[in-house]
Amino acid sequence: MAKADFEIPELKEYPEVPAVVPGTMAHSHPYIAKPEFQEPLNFPGELVDGWQDKAIEAMGDLLGKYRSLQVYLDSCVKCGACTDKCHYYLGTSDPKNMPVGRQDLLRKVYRRYFTFAGKYFPKLVGAEDLTKEVLDDWYSYFHQCSQCRRCSVFCPYGIDTAEISMAAREIMDRIGVGQKYCNEIIGKVYKIGNNLGLPEMALADTLEGLEEDVEDETGVAVKYPLDVKGADILLVTPSADFFAEPHVDGLIGYGKVFHEAGVSWTLSSKASEAANFGMFIGSYENMRRVSLRIREAALELGVKRIIFGECGHAWRVAYSFLNTLAGPFDFLDPKYPVPQHILEFTWGEIQKGTLNIDKSANDDMVVTFHDSCNVARASRMGSEPGGQFTIPRNVIKAVCNHFVDMAPETIHEKTFCCGGGGGLLTDDLMELRVKGAKPRMEALKNVIEENGVTNMAAICAICKSQFTKVLPYYGLDMDMIVSVHQLVSNAIVLTGQDSDDDEEAEDDAA
Ligand code: SF4
Ligand code: SF4
Repeated sequence: MAKADFEIPELKEYPEVPAVVPGTMAHSHPYIAKPEFQEPLNFPGELVDGWQDKAIEAMGDLLGKYRSLQVYLDSCVKCGACTDKCHYYLGTSDPKNMPVGRQDLLRKVYRRYFTFAGKYFPKLVGAEDLTKEVLDDWYSYFHQCSQCRRCSVFCPYGIDTAEISMAAREIMDRIGVGQKYCNEIIGKVYKIGNNLGLPEMALADTLEGLEEDVEDETGVAVKYPLDVKGADILLVTPSADFFAEPHVDGLIGYGKVFHEAGVSWTLSSKASEAANFGMFIGSYENMRRVSLRIREAALELGVKRIIFGECGHAWRVAYSFLNTLAGPFDFLDPKYPVPQHILEFTWGEIQKGTLNIDKSANDDMVVTFHDSCNVARASRMGSEPGGQFTIPRNVIKAVCNHFVDMAPETIHEKTFCCGGGGGLLTDDLMELRVKGAKPRMEALKNVIEENGVTNMAAICAICKSQFTKVLPYYGLDMDMIVSVHQLVSNAIVLTGQDSDDDEEAEDDAA
């Protein structure tokens, strides 16, 4: 079990709602961005003079732009239905991690400055001035929300705390209090093209290495092309897919599927990142700038289709906002959805019978599936409602003989966040990440004990990285997390692939 300088929650058979312990996570906050990480995003480098007035002005601006924000701040009736629905509350016991508690941090300031009652009778309506203590609380607790939207599923008014967190982070950025992790990463995307700062040469080398590995293993020359003009498909995938485990095994799988489907495809060094951290900081402008790279790459390469790899929030931005942010995409082939998810593509090929699949290749695993929040609650796949739940499971079942779902109250639209989404996947928030993973760990442990589950598949780069890191804190093996296309890759038998018999014959001959 990984060592921690904080208490690791004990996993229970059934989730228990903890007793409230105020202030337990008040100390938790990520590093503040230095000017060098703020300025490329057009935010002030540090806390500005007159920050209170500027923060209220920014709040007014957002209230004017996003009607939903005002509705969310006005409509809570304190019914309490959301209080035990956030994984961070369940893992930390801090009442400011109850969704309604988190919302109230912004709501009390909104009431003070934007409502009649709050202006004249603040105490009566729980309105408060925006002080430095309140700002510190905002910084701490709005960085303890992974913007997973689970609470909104249970709120009778559909209040979306994720949007409130995004607005709070945008206000803080505008007065010079940004988060280092997210803002540094967005800067790298502008400068180099991806979150990891992987330059074009390194990317080309990595892809060449992948081609050699796949050919050594299978005897088939599967290509992982970069910047190929005139290719049909532009694949936009999280940069973690280029080297990290188990992400890269997923990328190997995408390449094998494209190869067998007989389509031409390419990656782009300009759009070598699917992630869009502009969403996490609530900044429309930055979300747009990041998205425009994809449009530019698609135009320069002259592709007909855009397909996204396994990345949860990237799929949300792509599915829900890409057309608004960077469209119109009228230069693409109208026969295909804009954009498409790699799972939609793979499921389509499986249905067409293009892929030769040997399910027994995954017989050493009993697999369960973690629905990623942004895919489950903020997007869709395919043409049927609920396709975002059925398509990944259909693909897994088509390539694996042994699949088991976790408890119904922890999957589909009720899925629990991995604990590291929403821009919180940083080591300075390790305690929060481990504690926030508790509800998912409990559900996983139950299927391990009851059904012999050995592996959990995911379709989000953040979930995969988060689980790899937190599983050992709960005494579980970090390698048990796998990419869905890793399972596909294991099971595909490529046309002309060396069989085990061929290998044995070669060994005998040697
Ligand atoms: S959006 Fe998710 S992390 Fe944020 S308060 Fe709601 S349940 Fe918690
Ligand atoms: S469930 Fe909705 S209305 Fe009820 S307390 Fe939570 S946010 Fe307010």
